[in-house]
Amino acid sequence: MTKTLPTTEARLTELAHELPTPFHLYDERGMRENARAFMQAFAWAPGFRNYYAVKAAPTPALLQILAEEGFGADCSSLPELELAQRCGITGENIMFTSNDTPPEEFRRAAELGAVINLDDITHIAALEEALGGTLPELLSFRYNPGPERTGNAIIGNPVEAKYGVTSEQLLDCYRTAQDKGVGRFALHTMVASNELDASFIIETARMLFTLAVRLKEELGIELEFVNLGGGIGIPYRPEQQAMSYQEVSDGIRELYDSIIRPAGLDGLKLSFECGRVMTGPYGVLVSRVRHVTRKYKDYVGLDACMANLMRPAMYGSYHHITVLNKGEDAPRQTVDVTGSLCENNDKFAIDRELPVMQPGDVVVIHDAGAHGHSMGFNYNGKLRSAEYLLRADGRAEMIRRAETMDDLFATLSW
Ligand SMILES: *Cc1c(COP(=O)(O)O)cnc(C)c1O
Repeated sequence: MTKTLPTTEARLTELAHELPTPFHLYDERGMRENARAFMQAFAWAPGFRNYYAVKAAPTPALLQILAEEGFGADCSSLPELELAQRCGITGENIMFTSNDTPPEEFRRAAELGAVINLDDITHIAALEEALGGTLPELLSFRYNPGPERTGNAIIGNPVEAKYGVTSEQLLDCYRTAQDKGVGRFALHTMVASNELDASFIIETARMLFTLAVRLKEELGIELEFVNLGGGIGIPYRPEQQAMSYQEVSDGIRELYDSIIRPAGLDGLKLSFECGRVMTGPYGVLVSRVRHVTRKYKDYVGLDACMANLMRPAMYGSYHHITVLNKGEDAPRQTVDVTGSLCENNDKFAIDRELPVMQPGDVVVIHDAGAHGHSMGFNYNGKLRSAEYLLRADGRAEMIRRAETMDDLFATLSW
């Protein structure tokens, strides 16, 4: 897929001069169009919902846009619950998928009427205790297929994953909850991350649908919904292809017709909790070249660093880089693009061929709209940058200010 910019180079250059760099910029129109395409592809599915994984970009303006497009929120901590709630996402539009959960977070989730998704068989008792001896009327369990499923490249082998209940425990979980008076049930799994192969997601649906039938047959439970988790990837590299929502939808629909309907489970609702694919491609990190130098290699130093985007350093991830205002014929050079942290892995690109740069040039780092700003950290006293929303009419609206030194010092005792 060709890598496109959220607006014209001229407009981006203008913004990079008006606003202090580095900053994150999100494309409202792109985000809305993608959210609609996703919902549209699954229009056939009863009660279809995407609980946006808040951790991908926990910024109210973005959550509100996605809520307007019909999304709920997938939260895994108390602050994420509060964010969702303050953005008007309430009740069962919130899925609380936590692990190693403290009791007060269970209590708050229950208070908000969120769907509580238990990660562990021991959490039934923990939840019951946290809620003063009761359980919510609706309960979901996170299933980990272990050896029954090969993990995808990123999330790894399910056997090694700390999440979810095992195949052996799963029926016990539902039976126990049933015995304790829970009357409504859901089933969840999360076995993929940044997956570009539609068949992997379709197989996840097969796995959950098969379990739904088993739960009906063995325990008489008719699940209200299955949640396939997140994991739909994005083409970070120009040579990669985005996953087709239509292909995923068609594949799942076939399985719905062949597994769910014949079992008399028609009406079973379908949901996802995709984060990355919903905002990732619609956010860029705009940064300015500070220094260009040659050591044993050629280096381009930016004013952004791991505080703004951690993925390349943390996972060795590829993020496409566009240098603004360099024509097709601009001379090119192989460089490492670095940040200013005292960490040698603070590099946005290694041995990347890019147009020759000078101090002051503006670079756009693509696909930074998920796990970008949100993963940033303050190591080395680096401050996280501002976030702007590029509205459909071309205005850039600040949706989160940059951190200041006072923010950094706010927790200190002097
Ligand atoms: C991170 C996460 C998601 C979202 O995953 P994406 O790869 O961003 O779609 C969904 N559910 C859970 C439980 C997660 O931890």
